[in-house]
Amino acid sequence: MSVKIAVAGNPNSGKTTLFNALTGSNQYVGNWPGVTVERKEGVLTGHPDVVLVDLPGIYSLSTNSIEEELARDYLLESNPDAIINIVDGTNLERNLYLTTQLAELGIPMVLAINMMDEVEKSGVKIDSKALGNAFGVPVVEISALRETQIDELARVAVQTALTKGHLHPKHRFSGGVEHALGHIEEVALHDHPEHKQRWYAVKLFERNELVEAELGIPADLKAHIEQDIRHIEQEYDDESDSIIASERYDFIESVLERVTARKKAGALSPSDQIDRIVTNRWLALPIFAVIMFAVYYVSVNTVGSHLSDWIKTHLFGQIILSAVSGKLAEWGVAAWLRGLLVDGILAGVGSVLSFLPQMVVLFLFLSLLEYSGYMARVAFIMDRMFRKFGLSGKSFIPMLIGSGCGVPAIMAARTIENENDRRMTVITTSFIPCGAKLPVIAMIAEAFFGGRGWVAFGAYFLGIAAVVISGIILKKTPLFKGEAAPFVMELPAYRLPSLKSILITTWDRVSSFVKKASTIILLAAILLWFVTYFGWVDGRFQMLERAQIDNSIVAAFGNLIAWFFKPLGWGEWRPVVAALSGLVAKETVVTSFGIFYGFSEAAEAGHNAWAGLRANFTPLTGASFLVFVLLSAPCIAAISSIRQEMNSSKWTAFAVGYMSLVGYMTALVIFQIGTWLQTGFSFWTGIALGYIALVLWLMLRPAPTAERAPRIAKKEA
Ligand code: GDP
Repeated sequence: MSVKIAVAGNPNSGKTTLFNALTGSNQYVGNWPGVTVERKEGVLTGHPDVVLVDLPGIYSLSTNSIEEELARDYLLESNPDAIINIVDGTNLERNLYLTTQLAELGIPMVLAINMMDEVEKSGVKIDSKALGNAFGVPVVEISALRETQIDELARVAVQTALTKGHLHPKHRFSGGVEHALGHIEEVALHDHPEHKQRWYAVKLFERNELVEAELGIPADLKAHIEQDIRHIEQEYDDESDSIIASERYDFIESVLERVTARKKAGALSPSDQIDRIVTNRWLALPIFAVIMFAVYYVSVNTVGSHLSDWIKTHLFGQIILSAVSGKLAEWGVAAWLRGLLVDGILAGVGSVLSFLPQMVVLFLFLSLLEYSGYMARVAFIMDRMFRKFGLSGKSFIPMLIGSGCGVPAIMAARTIENENDRRMTVITTSFIPCGAKLPVIAMIAEAFFGGRGWVAFGAYFLGIAAVVISGIILKKTPLFKGEAAPFVMELPAYRLPSLKSILITTWDRVSSFVKKASTIILLAAILLWFVTYFGWVDGRFQMLERAQIDNSIVAAFGNLIAWFFKPLGWGEWRPVVAALSGLVAKETVVTSFGIFYGFSEAAEAGHNAWAGLRANFTPLTGASFLVFVLLSAPCIAAISSIRQEMNSSKWTAFAVGYMSLVGYMTALVIFQIGTWLQTGFSFWTGIALGYIALVLWLMLRPAPTAERAPRIAKKEA
């Protein structure tokens, strides 16, 4: 009779290398039935009657991905005689998560700690005997790459498989949870083989629908179990599945504390010391907020804004503009060409370029944070917060990239395996203000809020809030529901980044901005100038003076749709067209303002170019405008990336529609609530309050799945 051994482990744990080392060329490769995931089997070298089955690389045995489902089904249904669980010794904390789940299956198991060559180099010592005792399994330290201890692993695995016993997992959850699990086993699982009871009990405790259906749990029994679960959830103030997940990590942490040690005994590395503060449960978020505030304050308010002012009034206004105007007059250039150059191109592109210093400073800081290793911590901190809402911290990586540009951010969502989470990330990532939105933010901050840094900082956190709130709401709809994939990342040690790499990254971003200014924004400026300075006066199509631009082509177009933006406080053609022009590129919003409000004239006269805005806006309408531009549909480039990543027009339309709706309604709420406070209640105040109530309801309602229904009672109780 042949013996079957399954090889299971995380992606990148070295599973393929180990499988090759154990089977040599005795492999047959096929697919798992019905899917295109590769399935490999092979005969264990030196043991002709032992077959190894290579399971797909997975992080957990939940059913987040097709790989996890395949692995789970195989282990539950094919009854292998043993499991070789390969774990990456340099990353035990993450890898052992799967181990705790595998152990519950009751199948005899061997733990293979791989990458021991690396572990030894890093100066960490693992007491593998103690580790084995903690899990109740034999442990072999190996290096799959160097083929060390491979024969020993084969020997121990075969021996374990032949014992034909069952594994009794040794890790325990906390008292309350164990009590509930015991009770579930007693009432629902007493007919099942004892060694499988624990696995099923945990799954029932997690309200796993698949297992409920598989076991055919009748409704009354389910309700009975539900009481147990709710009791624990109340006691722990958390959802049952997160309780299990976090207790698994607690267990792993406590084991690792005992079994691993640095060779040079004692002191924490400087990185660990910093992390104790920076990732501290209570301090992490405030520290993050302070750092981001400082970054935006310094880039928008201080260094950046002084330089920007200087560029605008001195360099641009007094030097470039006067020189160009002077020369054009001297050469007797036609009025239209002067207009195009001065009121179109210089005003349109110059207005955007005047924010270049702020952008340079911001990008310098962001790349400094990235290279130092701090941003990796932020992803870790965010994961802790996101997970409470059923979101995955993996979504935060694209968002970090999104503070530069939405296009690579949307592509970065590819690393998220769970399809629903990936879609949601693609849809919400553009809420984070990208570099191109910075000029708009800085313009509004300067025009209405004295250039204050908190506006930019507020824009950043508004973006994060929009992502989190959208996540909570969307996760509760059938389109996106599902467990958040566990996300554990390695935190690289802090390091002082090299000046060169920071400068290169900053240069990359700045140069792509300058490139954009000299191509797409330049074209937009020319087009905008034309439609702004040509129009009909007394029924005759002609070139217009500045004072006449209300008769322009673009005004005629803008007036057609301006009514739609009245409830946001800026239902006038200029801001409406400016906001829409942001579809081309977000900087174009500033280009439009520059042209519509005479940026060149003001700069030439030595005025703050944006002071002119104050005549047409109030801080309230300015804020409403900014919020709309920040949250509504992103630029064409980002939309086409969404299209590419989603590979579906419907999803793309959903994404753009969703963002625009959020942008519109948030701006409406800001303007209408502000107006209410100033002038009194109106119909629109009612709409705004109704919208807030709707959002709160969508956030707070329980997830509308059958199994969660009883939680309504809990909330009401
Ligand atoms: P899988 O994704 O689990 O199948 O992992 P692979 O077998 O592809 O290995 C991932 C990476 O780890 C590869 O670059 C391997 O060369 C490397 N690797 C595997 N085992 C060891 C080992 O024992 N020591 C070291 N240093 N690297 C290893």
